[in-house]
Amino acid sequence: MSGMLFTCPHIVFLSQSTLTGMSQLCGTRLCHEIAHAWFGLAIAARDWTEEWLSEGFATHLEDVFWAKAQQLAPHEAREQQKLRACLRWHRLQDEVQNSPEEMQVLRPNKEKTGHVSDSGSSVIRHGLNPEKVFMQVHYLKGYFLLQFLAKTLGEDTYFSFLRKFVHTFHGQLILSQDFLQMLLENIPEEKRPELSVGNIFRDWLESSGIPQGIFLTQGLSTGLQHCRQILNHLSHRRSLLLRDISKYKDRST
Ligand SMILES: [Zn+2]
Repeated sequence: MSGMLFTCPHIVFLSQSTLTGMSQLCGTRLCHEIAHAWFGLAIAARDWTEEWLSEGFATHLEDVFWAKAQQLAPHEAREQQKLRACLRWHRLQDEVQNSPEEMQVLRPNKEKTGHVSDSGSSVIRHGLNPEKVFMQVHYLKGYFLLQFLAKTLGEDTYFSFLRKFVHTFHGQLILSQDFLQMLLENIPEEKRPELSVGNIFRDWLESSGIPQGIFLTQGLSTGLQHCRQILNHLSHRRSLLLRDISKYKDRST
């Protein structure tokens, strides 16, 4: 959940600051919070260190909801999602370069995830670290993992599985393996070459840095090209604007 919004079942509370800014930003924030009705509320992480189970899913679903809300045609939705993937990719690169490695791991407690100590308490690492509040690694890496799974298995297969998953686990607290095990059990082996819970833990959830699977995500390279074109276009427009401003200044002095 972002600091600006708070949701509880069937109700979304919005602060005024959420509704400022461009409609695009406002709409995607709303979609993100609506997605938390399923991931974060109806189904939540059993161990708080696995924050990606709320934030990764909400970030992945926010694009799907936002495309529906705008009534985009499938090809327009794909274009928009590619562009958003590209922006998130830049953000992730930036965060990975500027944060301590141990804070880039989505399942930091590994096989001890979900365990409670003898005293009955469970310790949340970095829970009080103020830096973590501003980090989006859990949102971004979680999002890219789900995007990777959806692309690898096929979006129709993935989303029909997701409906089944929500139905099965509604009202429960889960660990990463609950989701991954059920996903892989539901997909015939020939459709998921080299995908196993162990591999996903190793490559995506228990390592720092950028998972290599991101590069295999179909469409990310074309998305990056698209993004680069837009950035070039914007920087060209900026230089023209600056030139016009300096001309105007020369004239007025
Ligand atoms: Zn959130």
